[in-house]
Amino acid sequence: MIGIGFDVHKLVEKRPLVLAGVTIPSEKGALAHSDGDVILHALCDALLGAMGVGDIGDHFPDTDPQWKGASSSVFVQHVTLLMQERRLFIVNIDCTLVLQEPKIAAYKHEMKSAIAALCSIPESRVNIKATTNEHLGYVGRNEGVHAFVVCELQKL
Ligand code: MG
Repeated sequence: MIGIGFDVHKLVEKRPLVLAGVTIPSEKGALAHSDGDVILHALCDALLGAMGVGDIGDHFPDTDPQWKGASSSVFVQHVTLLMQERRLFIVNIDCTLVLQEPKIAAYKHEMKSAIAALCSIPESRVNIKATTNEHLGYVGRNEGVHAFVVCELQKL
């Protein structure tokens, strides 16, 4: 089964920039109740999509106090439990980050390791790609950040 996830967050000053569970030095970070980790949010949606069980908002409504302000890694851990219940394992995860600033090349390996650890899979099953938005639109003006994630799941 294949799933796709997309997420966007607004970037503002004096907020941490957390991507795939890694805090990256930046003048701006995501405006959100949680840590605003676009990669982990898109990853949850990709995994939920592959299972055919809705989206991150269905499973972790921000109206539910249990999830309010939760770290995005908690969402991923919960989604991996749903996969285990269905005897599904991750074949691979492929992430594309669209961010104008800062450059994240130096952090890609750490991000890959963090996702692999969160999902209990080898690093070889995770790929991180990053691109700028060529200064076009709100991502290009560094007012927002996008992430796309695709995954494949298989029955054990
Ligand atoms: Mg989000």
